[in-house]
Amino acid sequence: MISKTKLVGAACALVMACAMLSGCGDGASSDSPERSDPAVKEPVKPLLQRKEIADWCPEHGVPESICTRCNDTLAAGFKEKGDWCAKHDAPESQCFDCDPSLEAKFKANAPAGVQDE
Ligand SMILES: [Zn+2]
Ligand SMILES: [Zn+2]
Repeated sequence: MISKTKLVGAACALVMACAMLSGCGDGASSDSPERSDPAVKEPVKPLLQRKEIADWCPEHGVPESICTRCNDTLAAGFKEKGDWCAKHDAPESQCFDCDPSLEAKFKANAPAGVQDE
């Protein structure tokens, strides 16, 4: 019987210690900054994707992931945004015929290795 009482007492002390510890912990953790970033506005998808190896269409000089001439299902998205050159059947933002300087811009953002070729 005595040993059981001692055990209960020890358990009580343990619970109290835990409560004190967790109480302390809560106070500290509530101080942590919230994961809200007021600087982040609507997600704007960059025209030029991040540099990714192999994401490049050497044929058309644009990232493969946005190459409408290789993947014409992408065209609908560009047309929806009004980014489309009907004359050349390509996104206006990729239309090197309308804006030859675009080619250099795309090339500058090409994955490593593409520029050397
Ligand atoms: Zn292509
Ligand atoms: Zn054009």
